[in-house]
Amino acid sequence: MSATQNITIRDYVNGEWVDAADSPTAALFNPSTGQQIGVVPLGDEKSSRAASKAAADAFISWKETPLPKRMNYIFALHSAMVEHKEMLAQAIALDQAKHISEARGEVQRVIEIVQMACTIPALIQGETIPQIANNISGKIIKAPLGVFCGVAPFNFPALVFGWFIPFAIGTGNTFVYKPSTESPLFMQKMVQLFEQIELPAGVVNIVHGDREVVEAWYDDENVAGVCLVGSSPTAKAIAAGCGTNGKKTMLLGGAKNFLAVMEDAPMQELIDNLVISGYGSAGQRCLAISNIACVNEAYDELIERLLEASKAVTLGDATDPDVFMGPVISAAAKARIENYIEIGLAEGATLLLDGRNPSLKAENADGYFIGPTIFTDVTPDMRIAKEEIFGPVLSIMKVGCIDGALRMIKNHPMGNGACIFTQNAYYIEKFINNADVGMVGVNVGVCAPHPYMPFGGIKDSLVGNNKVQGKEGIDFFTQNKVATIRVVEPTGSGAKQGETKVSGQESDNSVRSCVAS
Ligand code: NAD
Repeated sequence: MSATQNITIRDYVNGEWVDAADSPTAALFNPSTGQQIGVVPLGDEKSSRAASKAAADAFISWKETPLPKRMNYIFALHSAMVEHKEMLAQAIALDQAKHISEARGEVQRVIEIVQMACTIPALIQGETIPQIANNISGKIIKAPLGVFCGVAPFNFPALVFGWFIPFAIGTGNTFVYKPSTESPLFMQKMVQLFEQIELPAGVVNIVHGDREVVEAWYDDENVAGVCLVGSSPTAKAIAAGCGTNGKKTMLLGGAKNFLAVMEDAPMQELIDNLVISGYGSAGQRCLAISNIACVNEAYDELIERLLEASKAVTLGDATDPDVFMGPVISAAAKARIENYIEIGLAEGATLLLDGRNPSLKAENADGYFIGPTIFTDVTPDMRIAKEEIFGPVLSIMKVGCIDGALRMIKNHPMGNGACIFTQNAYYIEKFINNADVGMVGVNVGVCAPHPYMPFGGIKDSLVGNNKVQGKEGIDFFTQNKVATIRVVEPTGSGAKQGETKVSGQESDNSVRSCVAS
């Protein structure tokens, strides 16, 4: 480990760094080189609960902080992120090894999400219905719930911060965040920004570790809810743990996204987008295209042009602006993806392009690289078409028409996103209405909705109903608290003591029945 990369990741609780001297640690690697660059503490029930306690203590005054003052922190956070966006992007390019151009894109997107969070005052206004009965009104307030905890995947350390924290704290809750042990650096840098904006202690806390940290929240009386972006098995495990303990959840799971290619697809745009969505972030994106359902008429041209474009993809260090694609996250991920290539071969698919053992510069020889990989002659029942590979591997299947593509999408257990390339308005409408997924793209490769709109899938890609961002992402962090209010005229204002003067005495029964129910 070089001296410049001796990074010690630490928990941040109640506005202070926590010295985890006696805690076990995991090694932190630079996936571009395979070199260890630091250590991450592996927390446990104790560190997890210390963080939720700090957040619960901070909630008492944070929820009473006037909304404009709370929002000033969100505005200041936005400005600080704009000011330091290059520092944040470099952090992501180092430990997650997302290519620097995409790391900058991720930071830019999260800045836009924080902008969306600035609309909270307009979106959490309550409702009042006067005179539900005589002298009785009903009032709904969007109340914060307390402490939320968030669990992040390795592949979007910044985006997931944005989906959870600004919305949670802007609505008056406090937060505990557990980054992935594989990409903790972004949040370590964010602490500098929390201190710059003087965010009150305990409003955002960070605790590192793996599932033990999360499991401690299931029956933690300080915790109101848990949010996750991660794989489907993890989402289901958290749903089970939180469900039996009555915690609120927002759980985004894994993905296996389809691209439908129609006979009139604008081919150059299609290839340009497919290279970005299939191989960008080395295929480690929940909206990456993985399965391609192509109609017979477009098949030969697609294969020829995709193969040529895929061979031109350059690989190298994620911080090198001159290459297109960085490595995958870990040696284990590389081995898993290589194993899927073996599985595809054993299942009888044709390996048109093999990304194993790509040529690299000497300094990246120990990095976790896999180049663009293409399988043809794939059928929907093959494991390479069914399971989430989460690497730069494309599986191409032939279909007779749009119905064949829609059927494949419907039959797949996951339902995050699906895209179509066509110029035909009939196909577009049919695809939008019938693709059995949560997010649809038309002539785009990555169908990521703008932060003003909800983001999330269906089926195994979303456990429960709550999606992130947009109005839905704000609503999740509040409850519709309802007050039924009877106004009693003060004594001495004309009514006899112990008697409520109700205007229109004839409706007294409706008052009683309303109060009784
Ligand atoms: P993962 O599920 O392995 O881990 C995610 C987080 O959950 C980590 O912080 C991990 O420490 C924690 N965790 C793991 N097992 C747990 C358990 N049993 N109980 C509690 N917590 C546990 O996912 P990953 O490999 O870090 O990230 C990649 C996955 O995330 C892919 O499946 C990808 O599709 C998914 N993802 C989905 C979206 C989306 O929008 N749907 C976005 C990004 C990533």
